[in-house]
Amino acid sequence: MSDADVIYKTDALIAEDIDQYLEVHQHKTMLRFITCGSVDDGKSTLIGRLLYDSKMIFEDQLAALESDSRKVGTQGQEIDFALLVDGLAAEREQGITIDVAYRFFATEKRKFIVADTPGHEQYTRNMVTGASTADLAVILIDARKGVLTQTRRHSYLAHLIGIRNIVLAVNKMDLVDYSQEIFDTIVGEYTDFANSIGISSFTAIPISGFKGDNITGLSDHTPWYGGPALMEHLETVEVDQVSDQEKPFRMAVQWVNRPNLDFRGFSGQIATGIVKVGDAVRVLPSGKTSTIARIVTMPGGAGPASGSGGDGDLDTAVAGQSVTLCFADEVDCSRGDVIAAADNPPQAADQFEATIVWMADEEMLPGRPYWLKLGTQTVTATIQQPKYQVNVNTMEHLAAKTLDLNAIGIANLATDRQIVFEPYERNRTLGGFILIDKITNATVAAGMLHFSLRRAQNVHWQATDVSREFHAGLKNQRPAVLWFTGLSGAGKSTIANIVEKKLARMNRHTFLLDGDNVRHGLNKDLGFTDADRVENIRRVGEVARLMTDAGLVVITAFISPFRAEREMVRQMMQPGEFIEVHIDTPLADAEARDVKGLYKKARSGELKNFTGIDSPYEPPEDPEIRIDTTTLTAEQAAEEIVRRLIP
Ligand code: ADP
Repeated sequence: MSDADVIYKTDALIAEDIDQYLEVHQHKTMLRFITCGSVDDGKSTLIGRLLYDSKMIFEDQLAALESDSRKVGTQGQEIDFALLVDGLAAEREQGITIDVAYRFFATEKRKFIVADTPGHEQYTRNMVTGASTADLAVILIDARKGVLTQTRRHSYLAHLIGIRNIVLAVNKMDLVDYSQEIFDTIVGEYTDFANSIGISSFTAIPISGFKGDNITGLSDHTPWYGGPALMEHLETVEVDQVSDQEKPFRMAVQWVNRPNLDFRGFSGQIATGIVKVGDAVRVLPSGKTSTIARIVTMPGGAGPASGSGGDGDLDTAVAGQSVTLCFADEVDCSRGDVIAAADNPPQAADQFEATIVWMADEEMLPGRPYWLKLGTQTVTATIQQPKYQVNVNTMEHLAAKTLDLNAIGIANLATDRQIVFEPYERNRTLGGFILIDKITNATVAAGMLHFSLRRAQNVHWQATDVSREFHAGLKNQRPAVLWFTGLSGAGKSTIANIVEKKLARMNRHTFLLDGDNVRHGLNKDLGFTDADRVENIRRVGEVARLMTDAGLVVITAFISPFRAEREMVRQMMQPGEFIEVHIDTPLADAEARDVKGLYKKARSGELKNFTGIDSPYEPPEDPEIRIDTTTLTAEQAAEEIVRRLIP
């Protein structure tokens, strides 16, 4: 590339020349890669070197560089290499907490997107984000330091995420006198490690990012090295897109394209395989079949086009393309569904084993419902206690009750409805997912599905002849759950007890589930960590639900400190059956009462994880009933609740 013209394009130029620009670059394949390494392994220098030597700098980083006149002169002037590297490093430091920096460049042979991620251990999540779309990982090693913990950690993550092309770039060779012996020792050590985690092959290249050895051309300093220069390897390595086309056809539906009554198409990006007009396809999870009548392309692949669609029909479309498919018949199909080859469809299931990379500061709470997004499907998922956690530095399996920030674990999870999936190993699009906190909307984890648990297919809900309506009818009442929540000592048990007595006098069939009592039996294996509190409430919710099936009015008295779990229990019940009762007593009052002496113990540090002291209480935002015990006696409060239940 060294003889190529130096081309600097401003945003305006790209905008003007966009057709020409696309024309030139359209025929090139794209390689997405990620660079990983420890803090001082020379990532910025290497990326700077690749950008600099490729002589083509595009889009975002050009804009960034141009906005800072210190780094770049007037248009067309050579960018100083050292300043470019400084700029990249500074930008990365600023962006360190935000995410991953993506940089674009191109050579005559290929286009590249490189995800530049910070090296510190605490940024595992950034690396996972950057790697999730990468075809190749460049693992940088400082020749003076050899294989480090970070090297192992990043290699493991890259392999876990499904990157099959690994480049071991042994950097700073200039600082070890281009010693073949040192290079061979490092490669030998890395080979042993790579084999142990299932990396079957990798390409090792001795380089100096700083001096430019073996970057764009082979260096005179390493006559003993017989492989390709880094850029040559990046330009010629086979990209997965090719093998994606050989897999069976799958496309997740992103939206239904129905601009008018004459046109109905299903838009999305083809994940794997090839689709042709006339192909028999199956819509999942419904399993309905049809035939492809048209394949319509959208200008730029964006948004539903006006009119009957796009800039032309295709006979065939392949993995990676964004298209709109029209069926020969009226078959139900909506966002989140997957269109697949009729004779080779993926499965649908609702229980799985998965690898989970936890990316949030707050630990994972087994049993808590999270949003799970897989392709275009969004469902509610709960995760069980991990089977084990992987120590990414030593590859050991550790026992774990939960997962903390950056932890990687293996766990079973269940979704509230069936999702169409494939093992991540075979299909990143239909096997990779993220988890989202339902309250904060933050992405808390990334994951990879291994397989569905067979019991998902084998355990079916047993239909019983005596229905819940019949049970309730016999008792001449409507089932309900009066869910009391509030601080310890707020008055939940006291008031719940009076409410139950009043209802019993009115011939209502009730059952009072009390926190302390349940913890003596059903939940005696649970403590008071956040994770155990979630599981405590989940079980109580399930029991309360069975009792409503039996036709009872259930009264529960549990602190139930978290909104997410109260919301989960609400979702378990029939609409209108869940009545949240907030026993709203200020902490100071509850503490002053201190009926069980627990606040005193908590204040002295004798009792850990006590709600209101060193464990949070999230008050309901919109409860059905709110009781202020500073203005009502327990008797008055109970009267009020009964009046609201039975007007
Ligand atoms: P919780 O079940 O919420 O932990 P308890 O019902 O066990 O709380 O304890 C509440 C204590 O507060 C009881 O000793 C009760 O007599 C006292 N109390 C004082 N005023 C009230 C009130 N207005 N409503 C309910 N309880 C009250």
